[in-house]
Amino acid sequence: MTTLEQKLHFDTIIERIERARLRVNDHHIVKIVAASKYVDAEAIRALYTIGQRAFGENKVQDMKVKIDLLEDLPLEWHFIGNLQKNKINTLLSLNPHLLHSVDSLDLAHALNERLVREGKTLRALVQVNSAYEESKSGFSPEEFGECYSQIVEQCPALHLQGIMSIGAHTDEIKTIQKSFEITRSLFEQTKGATICSMGMSNDFELAIECGSNLVRLGSLLFKH
Ligand SMILES: *Cc1c(COP(=O)(O)O)cnc(C)c1O
Repeated sequence: MTTLEQKLHFDTIIERIERARLRVNDHHIVKIVAASKYVDAEAIRALYTIGQRAFGENKVQDMKVKIDLLEDLPLEWHFIGNLQKNKINTLLSLNPHLLHSVDSLDLAHALNERLVREGKTLRALVQVNSAYEESKSGFSPEEFGECYSQIVEQCPALHLQGIMSIGAHTDEIKTIQKSFEITRSLFEQTKGATICSMGMSNDFELAIECGSNLVRLGSLLFKH
């Protein structure tokens, strides 16, 4: 793909986001995080050149390699994958902009402990399993509120900003919509939450219509 073709493709995605957000209301702003796990540093550089600044990785080691190679660019890095406790130190050394996937109290406490020790803070979202799928991590919708409050109280170095969820894995729109609506409702009930991270390549318009203000797009951006 030439740069021009890539720019045109990117523009069509932005137009789709624009139409979806206007169906919510004029003031509903949606951020794009490019899920760059499928591509190498040069493809990230190419997308940056046409205007994308926030990138998300789901493996700490891959993120480290790409950050090192792209040090010269003012990129904003998001960690969107499952975080294993033995990767916490490496992740913190990378100073990510936002961790999307705090999925257990155990992980929250482990993160807080290291952060306090290093005199750092970290912006983070709490992941909810609104689709009730066993393959997905995250708190159940029933326990979410209580656990979010506990993290705020007990883990002061984690600066919670909101909620993250992955839509139901199915072709049934109603089921996906239901999972997004559960997430949105929890988001609205969470004091101080400003980020509702939901929506991927196959369901981002629906996610936006259900209240998402951050979409994580991978295959749509990079696999074409
Ligand atoms: C890969 C990934 C995405 C992007 O998925 P696509 O369907 O390729 O857009 C979003 N969120 C998470 C957590 C991911 O791992």
